[in-house]
Amino acid sequence: MSGGDMAKPLLGHRSVEGDPTAPTAGRTIGVLGSGDFARSLAIRLVCSGFKVVVGSRNPKRKAGLFPSAAEVTFQAEAVKKTDVIFVAVFREHYSTLCDLADVLVGKILVDVSNNTEINHHKESNAEYLASLFPACTVVKGFNVVSAWTLQSGARDGNKQVLICSNNQEAKRTIAEIAQVMGFTPVDMGCMSSACEIENIPLRLLPAWKIPIFLSLGLFLCFFTYNLVRQVIHPYIREQKNKFYKIPIEVVNTTLPCVAYVMLSLVYLPGVLAACLQLYYGTKYRRFPDWLDQWLQHRKQIGLLSFFCAALHAVYSLCLPMRRSHRYQLIETAVKQAVEKKMNIWVEEEVWRMEIYISVGIIALGLLSLLAITSLPSIANSLNWREFSFIQSTLGFVALLISTLHTLTYGWSRAFDENQYKFYLPPTYTLTLLVPCTVILAKVVFSLPCIHHRLMRIRRGWEKGRYVKFVLPSATGEYSSGETSSHV
Ligand code: NAP
Repeated sequence: MSGGDMAKPLLGHRSVEGDPTAPTAGRTIGVLGSGDFARSLAIRLVCSGFKVVVGSRNPKRKAGLFPSAAEVTFQAEAVKKTDVIFVAVFREHYSTLCDLADVLVGKILVDVSNNTEINHHKESNAEYLASLFPACTVVKGFNVVSAWTLQSGARDGNKQVLICSNNQEAKRTIAEIAQVMGFTPVDMGCMSSACEIENIPLRLLPAWKIPIFLSLGLFLCFFTYNLVRQVIHPYIREQKNKFYKIPIEVVNTTLPCVAYVMLSLVYLPGVLAACLQLYYGTKYRRFPDWLDQWLQHRKQIGLLSFFCAALHAVYSLCLPMRRSHRYQLIETAVKQAVEKKMNIWVEEEVWRMEIYISVGIIALGLLSLLAITSLPSIANSLNWREFSFIQSTLGFVALLISTLHTLTYGWSRAFDENQYKFYLPPTYTLTLLVPCTVILAKVVFSLPCIHHRLMRIRRGWEKGRYVKFVLPSATGEYSSGETSSHV
């Protein structure tokens, strides 16, 4: 058995033998199969205080791969020594275990298998295993944990083990084993959930799909817009070849647009939700599905905003490294020398640039803080007030500072006729639309009369009910109070 982290149990030190309250204390657990999963499982079980017996078709060859504390023997021998057996074998090979049917009678089989495709088979692997061994109790579980996580679980963020079975007692036993191993068992109900559990490890970033498509869509729109303004316009109007700008300059003017608009999209659904709550006078009315979805994806949208902002910072730092930039610098210097211009210092431009870069750095710093605190391991260490202060208050400050960054970048360009290429306004003016709407709405919501009403609604006050409870005691007339409340 390897030392290091594996010598430590996941949750503190649970000495199973010395812990009389642990219902699984000293229990022998069987593992069928000697592959990657079986090996990691055996190591973790041994480290958690269990006795482990591994059933292999070729125990002599495989014994060396397991910790010395684990017994490696033939499948039938292993099965006889325990009541709980993890089947660490692929579904295709379940039928080869049928010879063990007699010795398996009455035992708990834990199906840890995964498929290669979502809904690959009509019935889940666990149901298939149960159909092959009707005299056994099958529990689905541990498939969402990889062999790697079993070994490095102490460092892994997600320690949940989803479990389902038609037998409550068997499910409880496996949940207790998972707990002793340092995992968090999650009861997913009866065996019909097995299919859903088997699909979970196969889903590719399910919570990220909408935010990724949103950011790609925004990127594409802004990229095309910038391409037309920065490359196509000079090519058509002045026959100037500026295509070299595409890989860095156009991308670098697009990234901050996406980052900035995405950041405002984190706070826009909150504004819309507040509008609906004010309109309906209650927080107990369901939001439309699209708004619900949007609210649930705010974290991912925020992280993508941070990603684009970070890329923008790196791209910006690299701008002076480009050959084109060096040529342009020399060209300008030569031009000034020819024109005998000695003083090229423009005070306004100097200040604009200093402020622009400084607020940009602060905005990126705040975005980094938001991104870090949205990670589950960090978020879990914060109390509700700390989390909401960082995500809500500091997040809004980040939006304000990003707006300042955008305004100092654009400066007076919006009022310069030459900036309207093909009558298209400078890109920064477009990016300001959503963030400024959000900021304006937040300012309106902070007005005492609206803020007070919104806070009351969020604490459970309702337009109709408020009168029912308050007016009768004040006026003694229930019905008249109710009518006036709805006006
Ligand atoms: P593996 O390394 O290929 O091991 C499979 C084991 O199955 C073999 O070592 C073999 O052990 C045993 N086996 C029994 N009958 C067999 C047969 N007829 N033909 C071939 N092998 C047979 O696979 P694994 O990665 O450990 O995965 C095992 C199970 O765990 C799979 O159902 C998989 O979906 C699930 N799982 C794996 C992971 C992971 O990270 N690897 C994560 C979650 C779930 P003997 O030769 O000793 O009999």
